[in-house]
This record gives sequence, structure tokens and C-alpha cells, in this order.
Amino acid sequence: MITTIQEVKRKFDVEDVRKDFPILTRLVNGKSLVYLDNAATSQKPQTVIDALTQYYTFDNANIHRGLYFLSELATEQYESARLKVKEFINAMSVSEIVFVRGATEAINLVASSLCRAKHFKDGDEVIISHMEHHANIVPWQLLGDRKNINLKVIPINDAGELDMDAFEKLFCEKTKLVSVVHISNALGTINPVKKIIEIAHAKKIPVLIDGAQAIPHHKVDVQELDADFYVFSGHKVFGPTGIGVLYGKTEFLEMMPPYQGGGDMIRTVTFEKTTFDDIPRKFEAGTPNIAGGIALGAAIDYVMQFDRPELAEYENELLVYGTEKLSQIEGLRIIGTAKEKASVISFVIDGIHPYDIGTIIDTDGIAIRTGHHCTQPIMQRFNLPATARASFAFYNTKEEIDNLVLGIHKVKKMFA
Ligand code: PMP
Repeated sequence: MITTIQEVKRKFDVEDVRKDFPILTRLVNGKSLVYLDNAATSQKPQTVIDALTQYYTFDNANIHRGLYFLSELATEQYESARLKVKEFINAMSVSEIVFVRGATEAINLVASSLCRAKHFKDGDEVIISHMEHHANIVPWQLLGDRKNINLKVIPINDAGELDMDAFEKLFCEKTKLVSVVHISNALGTINPVKKIIEIAHAKKIPVLIDGAQAIPHHKVDVQELDADFYVFSGHKVFGPTGIGVLYGKTEFLEMMPPYQGGGDMIRTVTFEKTTFDDIPRKFEAGTPNIAGGIALGAAIDYVMQFDRPELAEYENELLVYGTEKLSQIEGLRIIGTAKEKASVISFVIDGIHPYDIGTIIDTDGIAIRTGHHCTQPIMQRFNLPATARASFAFYNTKEEIDNLVLGIHKVKKMFA
């Protein structure tokens, strides 16, 4: 039987929720873990861990091909997870949900397959933004092997917001796709993607949205957005690594050729010619991450038990609190001060390298990210080699932010 997303909402209580995430009880360097690197990957609730264990312990079999009980069970669970994803992002059809390894593979798939579909000619242009993750820059450059694609970049202001006037001016007859990030992992900026899609569609240009950072924080409705492609990774939305989603409108997925060839994506094969399966299967060559897909379904169930705006409101409280506390630290500068922001705070401190900040506070069990966050162009834009970044999920607390602040004061004392 295919299960659907639960309707009765669980009241959000942070202390109660923290009990669902076993890792949050562990010690690091003798101190309680303070995990503030959720933009890199989020922690997993017990239900997701249980889904993985259940599959490998009792239900393991390959999918789609076996006519025996376990294979049918595994297939049913995997396909039920696809249905959960479809409902989670409100896709029109379950066949618009392609399981991939993550956001990175999804963008590579679209780039490669659109290129093979002859969507691009030499000299055509893809519009991206200055705040893209490398996953939405490099795949387009790699097409250079086959087609010479030029990237046109939407500039940003000092707060880290897109210059929408400049965006409109980037379009020309060579523009073939807009591919932009929904929420920046480096700055936390929430981009006006609905507006971006409207503008591009008025010029008949399709749009891919990199939703890797948006999906964990906000309800995303791909039909309401009218996105042509929307991609995300399971591991940032409390699911396992190695599984992610490419949503594509049927009209695009139907016209795009397969990305990889192999088993499970074909209808017939002879040495002369192969015919391909329907969407989404024609994009899913080989044995997939079955356990990952099933556990992503469990992660979606986990998130969907809550009222999502309630979670987003709590995360925003953390953002406001963290911004206020960090801003009070002398010499600390927040990078990314957009009006519309998700719970990500990137910062630098005069005279102290971000790596030193990260390494020293780690001795107190506090995990933040330091570096260029796979967004080197945005670091160049702010003339920085790196930032320190604290990113919050709904299981974080104000006390954890207080610990971060104490840790930063300790770092400053050491460098004084
Ligand atoms: N886009 C954004 C905005 C991201 O933050 C990330 C991961 N940091 C990615 C794409 C790539 O995700 P993954 O590594 O899971 O494929």
C-alpha cells in the first residue's frame, strides 16, 4: 500500500524535537555537541536511521526486477518515497520526480541532457547569479567539451541581494536557460525565485532552481513557482547522503535524452538499437540508492508532521537572535545582510582567520563551517578568502548560540 503524508500536525517544541536526533546527545571533546553546520548537512532523526536499518536488516532486495516478495516490497517502498517527494513539493505527477545522488548530480544531469537534446548552440548563454554554489557553475562550464556555453552572471549588492534590474538586462537572443539558487548557502539570502521565473518565462526561457538550501527551511510548491526544474539533496533535509531529487516538468523530461545508460532505464536492447523506458526511469540507470530513497521518504514524513511555517518562524527567531548577539562582538562583520534571509550567518573577524575560529571553538564541541563554502566567486565579490558560517536548523537553541558567542570571545582573547 502506498502511504501518504500525514495530516495531523505535531506541536513544535524544541526540547521535545531534540530527543528525536540521537547525535545531539553526544559529547565532542568532552563537551555537549553544538552542531551549527546545517547548511553543509543536517542531522538525522531516529526514524530516518530506523528506515535505513529496517531496509538493510529485513527488506533488502533489488527493485523493479524481481517477482518475489522482498523485491516487490522494496520496490513498493522506494516508489512510495517518490510519491512522498511528489506531494512534498507539489509536483503535478510522480513521473516528474527523478531520484539522483543529490543537487549536484541533478544539475549535471540537466546540463548534460539539455546539451544532448540540442537545447544549446555554440555561443548560447546561461544566466546564473554571483552567489551560486560551484554545483551550479561547473556543470555548465564542463559543457565546453561539447558546446561553448557562456555564463552571464546576475550581480549582487553589498547586502548580498540580486540586482533584479541588471538581471532583466542580461537576456538576449542567445539566452537559453536561467539557473539560480533559491537560498544562498554562503550568505543565507532568499532569492525572489518566483519573480525570476516570471521574468524568464515572459521571455520564454526555462528556469532551473537550486533548492538545496531552501527545501530544509521552507515549503516549496514547484507548481506555484512554475519552476521548470527544481533540485535538492536528501541529506540537507534530514535524510541520508547519496540521494537527491531532480524535479522536471514533464514536457522537458520527455524531450531530454537519458543522462547515463545501463540497466533499469531501457525498454528493449539489441546490439543495434536501444529504446528507453518512460520518465522518470529513463534517467535512473543502474541500481539506485534504494535505502536512501526509502529513508528520504522517512525524512519527509518527519518534517511533514510539523506545521512548516511554525518551524520556519522558530528558525527565523534563531537568525534574529544570532544576528543580534554576533553583531555585538567587536570586530565581527556579518557577510550577507539581505532583508530576506534564511538561518545562515556568515561572518569574519578582524585579524583572525576563519580557520582559526573554527578550529578553536571545535575544542568546545562547537561545529561551524569555515572556508569558501564551495562559492569562491562570492568570496571574490566580497574580497575575502573565506568566512566562518553558523547555520541553524529547528533543533538548535538560543543557548547553543550563546555558546558560540562565548567561543568567539575565547578566540578573540587568544588573539588579543
Ligand atoms: N547548491 C547549494 C546551494 C548547496 O548548498 C549545495 C551543498 N552545499 C549544493 C548545491 C550541492 O549539494 P550536494 O553536495 O548535496 O550535491
